[in-house]
Amino acid sequence: MQLGDFELHTISGGTYWIDGGSMFGVVPRTVWTRYISVDDKDRIHQRTSCVLVRTGQKNVLIDTGYGSKMNEKEQKNFSSEPGEPLVPSLAAFGLTPADIDVVVLSHLHFDHAGGATKVDNAGRVIPAFPNATYVVQRQEWATASAEFPELRAAYSLPNFMSLKEAGQLRLIDGNVEILPGIKAWLTGGHTEAHQAIVIESGNQGAIYMGDVCPTFRHLPTLWCIAYDLELLKLRRIKPEVLGTIADRGWWALCDHDPDHVAAKLRRDDKRDFAVTETLPIL
Ligand SMILES: [Zn+2]
Repeated sequence: MQLGDFELHTISGGTYWIDGGSMFGVVPRTVWTRYISVDDKDRIHQRTSCVLVRTGQKNVLIDTGYGSKMNEKEQKNFSSEPGEPLVPSLAAFGLTPADIDVVVLSHLHFDHAGGATKVDNAGRVIPAFPNATYVVQRQEWATASAEFPELRAAYSLPNFMSLKEAGQLRLIDGNVEILPGIKAWLTGGHTEAHQAIVIESGNQGAIYMGDVCPTFRHLPTLWCIAYDLELLKLRRIKPEVLGTIADRGWWALCDHDPDHVAAKLRRDDKRDFAVTETLPIL
C-alpha cells in the first residue's frame, strides 16, 4: 500500500503452527475456538508477517520471522517452512537481503528475531542482512542477552548476538524516532521492553503492533497470550495502541494473524475493538 510518501508492504517471514491454548492464555478453550480452528495436535496456524517500508531513501524491514536456524525437531514441532522464508518474500519486490538498510526488531523472541541471523557456509552464525543496521530497545537487549535462568526458553542467543559482534547493532531507549516517519513505541507488556513501530507519512499512519495484539482474534483487551511477561502492563497498553489506531483511522499491522495482515479498527462495546476493513494476504 502507499502510505503518504512511503511504500509499505507486509511480507512473509514464514508460517507455522503453535499450541492454541498458549496463544489465548486464560481465555477458555470453548470461547477462543469459536474464533479460530485447531489441527489434530491442538495447534493454530500463524503467520509471521513482517513489514517492508520503502521510504524513498531507505529500505526498512520490521521483524524477521523465525529464519532458517531451527533444527529438525523444532521445525517438526512448529511445522515451519524450511529455508529462509524472507528471501523469496523480498525477491517478490526485486530485493535481496543486501538491499535492506535498517532492520527494526519489536523484541527478540525467536519468531521475530530468528531471521535476523543465519548460518553461513563455514557454519558461523552471521547477520542475515549484511548491510543493515539493526534497531533494538536497549532494555530488550539487556534482558535477552543476560541469560536469566527464568527466561531460558524465551531467548536464543544465536538469534541476535552476532549483530553486536558485527557492529551492526543500534540500541535505542524508549520512544525515539528511528528514521523520519518511523518511530519506536516502547510498550513493554509482552516482554519488558517490547516495542510497537509507528509509521507516519503525509496524513496517513500505521502501527506495527508486534505481540501487543498478535492476531485480530486478540482485540479484546483482556485476551492475552501465555507468553506475555507483564500481563497487567499489556492490558493497560493494548487499549492505548488499538485506540490510537481506531481514533486516527490508521492501519493496524498484525504479525501473527493467519488471514489478514492489516486492518482498520473501530471501538466496539462487546469486544473493545472490531475490524472494519482488512487487507488480504498477497
Ligand atoms: Zn513474542
